[in-house]
Amino acid sequence: MLVLGIESSCDECAASVIKDGKIILSNVIATQIEDHKIYMGVVPEIASRIHTQWISGVVKESLEIAGIEATELDGIAVANRPGLSGSLLVGVSFAKGLAYSLGIPIIGVDHVKAHLYAPHLEYDIEYPYIGLLVSGGHTVIAKVTGFDQMEIMGSTIDDACGEAFDKVAKFYNFGYPGGKIIDDLAKKGDPKAFNFPRSSLHKGDHKYDVSYSGLKTAVINQIDQFWDGVSEKSPENIAASFQHIAIDVLIKRVQKAIKDTGIKRVVAGGGVTANSYLRERLLELRGVNSYFPSLSLCTDNGAMIASYGSEFLKRGISDDLSLTAISRVMAFRRGYP
Ligand code: ATP
Ligand code: MG
Ligand code: FE
Repeated sequence: MLVLGIESSCDECAASVIKDGKIILSNVIATQIEDHKIYMGVVPEIASRIHTQWISGVVKESLEIAGIEATELDGIAVANRPGLSGSLLVGVSFAKGLAYSLGIPIIGVDHVKAHLYAPHLEYDIEYPYIGLLVSGGHTVIAKVTGFDQMEIMGSTIDDACGEAFDKVAKFYNFGYPGGKIIDDLAKKGDPKAFNFPRSSLHKGDHKYDVSYSGLKTAVINQIDQFWDGVSEKSPENIAASFQHIAIDVLIKRVQKAIKDTGIKRVVAGGGVTANSYLRERLLELRGVNSYFPSLSLCTDNGAMIASYGSEFLKRGISDDLSLTAISRVMAFRRGYP
Protein backbone atom coordinates (compact mmCIF):
# COMPACT_ATOMS: atom_id res chain seq x y z
CA MET A 1 0.00 0.00 0.00
CA LEU A 2 1.42 3.38 -1.06
CA VAL A 3 0.25 6.39 0.93
CA LEU A 4 1.12 10.04 0.40
CA GLY A 5 1.26 12.12 3.59
CA ILE A 6 0.83 15.89 3.49
CA GLU A 7 1.76 18.18 6.38
CA SER A 8 1.14 21.94 6.42
CA SER A 9 -0.11 22.65 9.96
CA CYS A 10 2.45 25.31 10.83
CA ASP A 11 5.59 26.48 9.03
CA GLU A 12 6.80 23.21 7.51
CA CYS A 13 5.50 22.31 4.06
CA ALA A 14 6.09 18.58 3.87
CA ALA A 15 5.16 15.49 1.89
CA SER A 16 6.19 11.86 2.11
CA VAL A 17 5.43 8.56 0.46
CA ILE A 18 5.21 5.57 2.79
CA LYS A 19 4.96 1.95 1.69
CA ASP A 20 2.97 -0.51 3.82
CA GLY A 21 2.73 1.93 6.71
CA LYS A 22 6.42 1.78 7.59
CA ILE A 23 8.86 2.05 4.71
CA ILE A 24 9.88 5.65 3.99
CA LEU A 25 10.25 6.07 0.22
CA SER A 26 10.56 9.85 0.49
CA ASN A 27 10.32 12.52 3.18
CA VAL A 28 10.51 16.06 1.77
CA ILE A 29 10.43 18.91 4.29
CA ALA A 30 10.52 22.54 3.12
CA THR A 31 10.80 24.78 6.13
CA GLN A 32 9.80 28.44 6.28
CA ILE A 33 12.13 29.21 9.21
CA GLU A 34 14.01 31.88 7.23
CA ASP A 35 10.74 33.63 6.28
CA HIS A 36 9.60 34.00 9.90
CA LYS A 37 12.99 34.60 11.51
CA ILE A 38 12.78 38.40 11.52
CA TYR A 39 9.50 38.17 13.46
CA MET A 40 10.97 35.62 15.94
CA GLY A 41 7.82 33.54 15.50
CA VAL A 42 5.48 32.11 12.87
CA VAL A 43 3.24 34.71 11.19
CA PRO A 44 0.08 32.79 10.16
CA GLU A 45 -0.76 34.91 7.10
CA ILE A 46 2.75 34.54 5.69
CA ALA A 47 2.80 30.81 6.49
CA SER A 48 -0.37 30.00 4.55
CA ARG A 49 0.69 32.06 1.54
CA ILE A 50 4.03 30.27 1.32
CA HIS A 51 2.33 26.87 1.66
CA THR A 52 0.17 27.79 -1.34
CA GLN A 53 3.30 28.55 -3.35
CA TRP A 54 5.27 25.48 -2.28
CA ILE A 55 2.83 22.63 -1.84
CA SER A 56 2.62 21.37 -5.40
CA GLY A 57 6.43 21.36 -5.78
CA VAL A 58 6.90 19.58 -2.46
CA VAL A 59 4.38 16.87 -3.34
CA LYS A 60 5.86 16.47 -6.83
CA GLU A 61 9.34 16.08 -5.38
CA SER A 62 8.16 13.50 -2.85
CA LEU A 63 6.68 11.38 -5.66
CA GLU A 64 9.85 11.75 -7.76
CA ILE A 65 12.15 10.73 -4.90
CA ALA A 66 9.86 7.78 -4.12
CA GLY A 67 10.13 6.82 -7.80
CA ILE A 68 6.39 6.49 -8.31
CA GLU A 69 3.63 8.09 -10.35
CA ALA A 70 0.70 9.71 -8.54
CA THR A 71 -1.56 7.11 -10.18
CA GLU A 72 0.17 4.37 -8.16
CA LEU A 73 -0.96 5.88 -4.85
CA ASP A 74 -3.53 3.93 -2.83
CA GLY A 75 -4.52 6.80 -0.57
CA ILE A 76 -3.69 10.23 0.81
CA ALA A 77 -3.32 11.23 4.46
CA VAL A 78 -3.31 14.89 5.40
CA ALA A 79 -2.85 16.67 8.73
CA ASN A 80 -6.18 18.47 9.22
CA ARG A 81 -5.95 19.24 12.97
CA PRO A 82 -4.74 21.00 15.11
CA GLY A 83 -2.69 23.91 13.74
CA LEU A 84 -2.97 27.27 12.02
CA SER A 85 -6.29 27.32 10.11
CA GLY A 86 -4.97 28.97 6.98
CA SER A 87 -1.94 26.68 6.82
CA LEU A 88 -3.97 23.51 7.43
CA LEU A 89 -6.47 24.50 4.75
CA VAL A 90 -3.76 24.63 2.09
CA GLY A 91 -2.74 21.01 2.76
CA VAL A 92 -6.32 19.82 3.15
CA SER A 93 -7.51 21.51 -0.07
CA PHE A 94 -4.55 20.25 -2.08
CA ALA A 95 -4.99 16.71 -0.73
CA LYS A 96 -8.72 16.73 -1.50
CA GLY A 97 -8.14 17.90 -5.08
CA LEU A 98 -5.50 15.25 -5.65
CA ALA A 99 -7.58 12.46 -4.07
CA TYR A 100 -10.58 13.49 -6.16
CA SER A 101 -8.64 13.55 -9.40
CA LEU A 102 -7.06 10.15 -8.69
CA GLY A 103 -10.25 8.61 -7.32
CA ILE A 104 -8.51 7.37 -4.16
CA PRO A 105 -9.47 7.62 -0.45
CA ILE A 106 -8.36 10.49 1.76
CA ILE A 107 -7.99 10.53 5.54
CA GLY A 108 -7.58 13.60 7.71
CA VAL A 109 -5.30 12.86 10.66
CA ASP A 110 -4.49 14.48 13.95
CA HIS A 111 -1.04 16.09 13.75
CA VAL A 112 -0.35 15.65 17.48
CA LYS A 113 -1.29 11.96 17.54
CA ALA A 114 0.86 11.53 14.43
CA HIS A 115 3.86 13.01 16.33
CA LEU A 116 3.41 10.37 19.01
CA TYR A 117 3.05 7.68 16.35
CA ALA A 118 6.33 8.65 14.61
CA PRO A 119 8.52 6.17 16.58
CA HIS A 120 6.44 3.32 15.08
CA LEU A 121 8.12 4.12 11.74
CA GLU A 122 11.43 2.93 13.14
CA TYR A 123 10.56 0.41 15.84
CA ASP A 124 8.06 -2.38 16.43
CA ILE A 125 6.37 -1.14 19.57
CA GLU A 126 3.78 -3.07 21.51
CA TYR A 127 0.86 -1.49 23.32
CA PRO A 128 0.20 -0.31 25.96
CA TYR A 129 2.77 2.38 26.62
CA ILE A 130 3.16 5.70 28.36
CA GLY A 131 3.14 8.35 25.64
CA LEU A 132 5.03 11.59 26.13
CA LEU A 133 4.11 14.17 23.53
CA VAL A 134 6.22 17.32 23.74
CA SER A 135 6.03 19.84 20.93
CA GLY A 136 5.75 23.54 20.18
CA GLY A 137 2.05 23.63 21.04
CA HIS A 138 1.39 20.58 23.21
CA THR A 139 2.67 18.76 26.27
CA VAL A 140 0.77 15.59 27.08
CA ILE A 141 1.33 12.43 29.11
CA ALA A 142 -1.02 9.65 28.06
CA LYS A 143 -1.68 5.97 28.50
CA VAL A 144 -1.75 4.66 24.94
CA THR A 145 -3.52 1.34 24.37
CA GLY A 146 -3.90 1.31 20.59
CA PHE A 147 -3.01 3.36 17.52
CA ASP A 148 -6.05 5.58 18.08
CA GLN A 149 -6.76 4.90 21.73
CA MET A 150 -5.27 7.05 24.41
CA GLU A 151 -6.26 8.23 27.83
CA ILE A 152 -4.82 11.64 28.69
CA MET A 153 -3.20 11.36 32.14
CA GLY A 154 -1.69 14.83 32.30
CA SER A 155 -0.98 17.90 30.24
CA THR A 156 0.40 21.38 30.61
CA ILE A 157 -1.97 23.74 32.32
CA ASP A 158 -0.46 26.75 30.54
CA ASP A 159 2.48 26.97 28.08
CA ALA A 160 3.72 24.00 26.07
CA CYS A 161 7.28 22.83 26.73
CA GLY A 162 8.58 23.80 23.26
CA GLU A 163 6.84 27.15 23.55
CA ALA A 164 8.78 27.83 26.78
CA PHE A 165 12.07 27.03 24.98
CA ASP A 166 11.09 29.38 22.14
CA LYS A 167 10.01 32.22 24.43
CA VAL A 168 13.10 32.08 26.63
CA ALA A 169 15.31 32.15 23.52
CA LYS A 170 13.31 35.04 22.10
CA PHE A 171 13.61 37.13 25.25
CA TYR A 172 17.36 36.59 25.51
CA ASN A 173 17.78 37.10 21.78
CA PHE A 174 19.53 33.72 21.50
CA GLY A 175 18.11 33.18 18.01
CA TYR A 176 15.21 31.48 16.25
CA PRO A 177 13.90 28.83 16.55
CA GLY A 178 14.91 28.58 20.18
CA GLY A 179 14.77 24.88 21.07
CA LYS A 180 17.89 23.71 19.27
CA ILE A 181 19.83 26.86 20.21
CA ILE A 182 19.11 26.40 23.93
CA ASP A 183 19.99 22.72 23.64
CA ASP A 184 23.39 23.63 22.11
CA LEU A 185 24.12 26.45 24.58
CA ALA A 186 23.17 24.21 27.51
CA LYS A 187 25.89 21.71 26.59
CA LYS A 188 28.48 24.32 27.66
CA GLY A 189 26.63 25.58 30.74
CA ASP A 190 26.15 24.64 34.37
CA PRO A 191 22.62 23.31 35.04
CA LYS A 192 22.99 24.23 38.71
CA ALA A 193 24.05 27.87 38.13
CA PHE A 194 20.45 29.01 38.70
CA ASN A 195 17.88 27.43 40.94
CA PHE A 196 14.75 28.10 38.88
CA PRO A 197 11.38 27.04 40.35
CA ARG A 198 9.67 23.85 39.29
CA SER A 199 5.90 23.63 39.21
CA SER A 200 4.45 22.06 42.32
CA LEU A 201 1.49 20.41 40.64
CA HIS A 202 2.04 16.96 41.92
CA LYS A 203 -0.92 16.28 44.12
CA GLY A 204 -4.40 14.82 43.74
CA ASP A 205 -6.03 15.59 40.47
CA HIS A 206 -2.95 17.21 38.98
CA LYS A 207 -0.38 14.55 39.61
CA TYR A 208 0.68 14.15 35.99
CA ASP A 209 0.20 17.78 34.92
CA VAL A 210 2.98 20.25 34.21
CA SER A 211 3.20 24.03 34.07
CA TYR A 212 5.78 26.10 32.23
CA SER A 213 4.65 29.67 32.66
CA GLY A 214 6.20 30.13 36.13
CA LEU A 215 9.53 28.67 35.02
CA LYS A 216 9.51 30.79 31.85
CA THR A 217 8.78 33.97 33.83
CA ALA A 218 11.48 33.21 36.41
CA VAL A 219 14.05 32.66 33.65
CA ILE A 220 13.00 35.80 31.79
CA ASN A 221 13.17 37.87 34.99
CA GLN A 222 16.88 37.12 35.21
CA ILE A 223 17.38 39.31 32.15
CA ASP A 224 17.35 42.46 34.31
CA GLN A 225 20.69 41.58 35.78
CA PHE A 226 21.85 39.65 32.76
CA TRP A 227 24.60 41.76 31.29
CA ASP A 228 26.26 42.79 34.52
CA GLY A 229 29.42 40.92 33.68
CA VAL A 230 28.99 38.31 36.39
CA SER A 231 30.15 35.07 34.88
CA GLU A 232 27.36 32.79 36.14
CA LYS A 233 24.88 34.87 34.15
CA SER A 234 26.25 33.59 30.87
CA PRO A 235 23.81 32.49 28.13
CA GLU A 236 25.18 28.97 28.56
CA ASN A 237 24.28 28.86 32.26
CA ILE A 238 20.83 30.37 31.74
CA ALA A 239 20.14 27.80 29.00
CA ALA A 240 21.48 24.84 30.99
CA SER A 241 19.60 25.75 34.19
CA PHE A 242 16.33 26.35 32.33
CA GLN A 243 16.64 23.18 30.25
CA HIS A 244 17.47 21.07 33.28
CA ILE A 245 14.21 21.98 35.05
CA ALA A 246 12.08 21.98 31.88
CA ILE A 247 13.09 18.39 31.09
CA ASP A 248 13.34 17.11 34.65
CA VAL A 249 9.66 17.86 35.38
CA LEU A 250 8.67 15.78 32.34
CA ILE A 251 10.81 12.85 33.42
CA LYS A 252 9.40 12.99 36.96
CA ARG A 253 5.82 12.82 35.60
CA VAL A 254 6.71 9.94 33.31
CA GLN A 255 8.32 8.06 36.20
CA LYS A 256 5.19 8.55 38.26
CA ALA A 257 3.00 7.32 35.40
CA ILE A 258 5.20 4.22 35.00
CA LYS A 259 5.04 3.50 38.71
CA ASP A 260 1.27 3.97 38.97
CA THR A 261 0.33 1.99 35.85
CA GLY A 262 3.05 -0.65 35.92
CA ILE A 263 3.60 0.01 32.20
CA LYS A 264 7.34 -0.17 31.55
CA ARG A 265 7.35 1.19 28.03
CA VAL A 266 7.69 4.88 27.13
CA VAL A 267 7.21 6.37 23.67
CA ALA A 268 8.07 10.04 23.09
CA GLY A 269 7.32 12.23 20.09
CA GLY A 270 7.15 15.88 18.98
CA GLY A 271 9.77 18.58 18.34
CA VAL A 272 11.15 18.71 21.88
CA THR A 273 12.02 15.01 21.57
CA ALA A 274 14.97 16.29 19.53
CA ASN A 275 16.38 17.69 22.78
CA SER A 276 19.62 15.90 23.64
CA TYR A 277 19.09 16.11 27.41
CA LEU A 278 15.55 14.68 27.16
CA ARG A 279 16.85 11.82 24.99
CA GLU A 280 19.60 11.13 27.51
CA ARG A 281 17.17 11.12 30.45
CA LEU A 282 14.71 8.83 28.64
CA LEU A 283 17.46 6.30 27.99
CA GLU A 284 18.49 6.43 31.66
CA LEU A 285 15.05 5.30 32.90
CA ARG A 286 15.81 2.04 34.64
CA GLY A 287 13.95 -1.14 33.72
CA VAL A 288 12.00 0.77 31.04
CA ASN A 289 12.06 0.49 27.25
CA SER A 290 12.21 4.02 25.82
CA TYR A 291 11.50 4.90 22.21
CA PHE A 292 11.85 8.25 20.46
CA PRO A 293 12.19 9.22 16.80
CA SER A 294 15.35 9.96 14.80
CA LEU A 295 15.98 13.70 14.69
CA SER A 296 14.38 14.18 11.25
CA LEU A 297 11.13 12.63 12.49
CA CYS A 298 10.83 14.67 15.71
CA THR A 299 9.70 17.97 14.23
CA ASP A 300 6.96 18.35 11.62
CA ASN A 301 7.15 15.95 8.68
CA GLY A 302 4.92 14.17 6.20
CA ALA A 303 6.20 10.65 7.01
CA MET A 304 4.45 10.55 10.39
CA ILE A 305 1.22 11.74 8.72
CA ALA A 306 1.41 9.09 5.97
CA SER A 307 2.34 6.33 8.39
CA TYR A 308 -0.35 7.19 10.94
CA GLY A 309 -2.91 7.69 8.14
CA SER A 310 -2.04 4.23 6.79
CA GLU A 311 -3.36 2.70 10.02
CA PHE A 312 -6.81 4.09 9.18
CA LEU A 313 -6.71 3.51 5.43
CA LYS A 314 -5.70 -0.16 5.79
CA ARG A 315 -8.80 -0.65 7.98
CA GLY A 316 -10.96 0.94 5.29
CA ILE A 317 -11.49 4.11 7.35
CA SER A 318 -11.47 7.32 5.29
CA ASP A 319 -13.07 10.74 5.04
CA ASP A 320 -15.26 12.20 2.36
CA LEU A 321 -14.53 15.39 0.45
CA SER A 322 -16.26 17.53 3.06
CA LEU A 323 -13.07 17.14 5.14
CA THR A 324 -11.93 20.47 6.56
CA ALA A 325 -9.37 21.98 8.92
CA ILE A 326 -9.86 22.14 12.69
CA SER A 327 -7.48 24.58 14.36
CA ARG A 328 -7.85 23.42 17.98
CA VAL A 329 -8.35 20.00 19.48
CA MET A 330 -9.35 20.54 23.09
CA ALA A 331 -9.05 16.86 23.95
CA PHE A 332 -5.31 17.37 24.53
CA ARG A 333 -6.10 19.15 27.77
CA ARG A 334 -6.60 16.62 30.54
CA GLY A 335 -10.11 16.52 31.91
CA TYR A 336 -11.75 17.43 28.62
CA PRO A 337 -14.42 14.82 27.78
P1 ATP B 1 2.46 21.11 17.56
O1 ATP B 1 3.10 19.87 17.04
O2 ATP B 1 2.15 21.06 19.02
O3 ATP B 1 1.32 21.55 16.73
P2 ATP B 1 4.69 22.42 16.35
O4 ATP B 1 4.29 21.60 15.17
O5 ATP B 1 5.00 23.84 16.16
O6 ATP B 1 3.54 22.28 17.45
P3 ATP B 1 6.93 20.69 16.55
O7 ATP B 1 7.22 20.86 15.13
O8 ATP B 1 6.57 19.35 17.01
O9 ATP B 1 5.87 21.75 17.10
O10 ATP B 1 8.19 21.13 17.35
C1 ATP B 1 8.69 22.40 17.32
C2 ATP B 1 9.12 22.69 18.72
O11 ATP B 1 10.20 21.84 19.10
C3 ATP B 1 9.62 24.11 18.92
O12 ATP B 1 9.02 24.66 20.07
C4 ATP B 1 11.12 23.94 19.09
O13 ATP B 1 11.72 24.92 19.90
C5 ATP B 1 11.18 22.58 19.75
N1 ATP B 1 12.50 21.95 19.57
C6 ATP B 1 13.09 21.56 18.42
N2 ATP B 1 14.33 21.08 18.65
C7 ATP B 1 14.52 21.16 20.00
C8 ATP B 1 15.59 20.83 20.88
N3 ATP B 1 16.73 20.32 20.41
N4 ATP B 1 15.43 21.07 22.20
C9 ATP B 1 14.27 21.59 22.67
N5 ATP B 1 13.24 21.93 21.89
C10 ATP B 1 13.35 21.71 20.58
MG1 MG C 1 7.89 24.21 12.64
FE1 FE D 1 4.19 19.55 15.27
